[in-house]
Amino acid sequence: MNIQGINEILIDQPKYRQQQIEKAIYGEFISDWSEAIALPEHLRKQLAEACPLDIHAEETISSGDSRKALIILEDELKIEAVLMMHKGDRNTVCVSSQVGCPMGCLFCATGKLGFKRNLTADEIVEQVLYFARQLKKENKRVTNIVFMGMGEPMVNYDNVMAAIRILNNPNGFNLGARRMSISTSGIPEGIRKFAREGLEVNLALSLHAPNNELRCKIMPVSRRHSLEEVMDALREYVDITHRKIMFEYIMIKDVTDTPELAHELVKLLSGWLGYVNLINYNQTEMFAPSTRERIEEFKQILEDGHITVVQRYTFGQDIDGACGQLAARTKLQID
Ligand code: SF4
Repeated sequence: MNIQGINEILIDQPKYRQQQIEKAIYGEFISDWSEAIALPEHLRKQLAEACPLDIHAEETISSGDSRKALIILEDELKIEAVLMMHKGDRNTVCVSSQVGCPMGCLFCATGKLGFKRNLTADEIVEQVLYFARQLKKENKRVTNIVFMGMGEPMVNYDNVMAAIRILNNPNGFNLGARRMSISTSGIPEGIRKFAREGLEVNLALSLHAPNNELRCKIMPVSRRHSLEEVMDALREYVDITHRKIMFEYIMIKDVTDTPELAHELVKLLSGWLGYVNLINYNQTEMFAPSTRERIEEFKQILEDGHITVVQRYTFGQDIDGACGQLAARTKLQID
């Protein structure tokens, strides 16, 4: 899909054409210009030649409740997007914001792929459209979007915000801001900027360790931005937005899951407006997942400390839906 040339084609057209096109692409999920029946035929032909709408993708893995797609970009680089289908017609798309990721978290398959480039706003939206077109055939819709795929959204800030505005546009995709979530590994400058956007998009912090020492070991970003700095930025975010924060915490055997760390986490998060999402880890060469008993014990300590705990995005064994784990199973090559 490449719609960059649309504005040029529309130069001599009446203003309402822009709205008709937005509605057709983002509201009716057309995959071919011949479906845009509100447009005159000559314009449809012109658009078909200059702005192809087809999305090159392969569905790599599909299980009962999840589908993972490998999307091939114009420059042949590859990204992954995941559709997670929940009960009650909730269909969440997990999108990537970069090709690879520069943050290099040790437990993350995407981090090991290295970093190629930022995605454009259109390339981010394309991932959502891929699944929206599929769901349309099943009389379903995308109801939620999470920026938890490949990449750190806060270092591709402008394109991520532009994508959010396209998806939020009432004339197009029309998805409420509260149905979108951004997950960051902790970029204070980005968090502060985000707090001032006036958007009601949810914010998640990939916390994964309750102290700076452990966090520096598994998340190199902590060497640049200490946990204290990140928590300060989050405090500012909560003061300005009064919105809850989701603290993502990955359960890695004997690394992040000890009772001592659970107590430390209680201390760190006491009094915060937010909750903890405990994420099951999938086995990699370096780390193993926590046992069920250990997760239960960890959870209990948090709950005894009056911390709200949820367990989300733990889908079928063959699909990994948490930040950066998308590429874990397919041994994805991004170029
Ligand atoms: S966990 Fe997220 S921020 Fe860290 S390397 Fe993976 S994709 Fe990047």
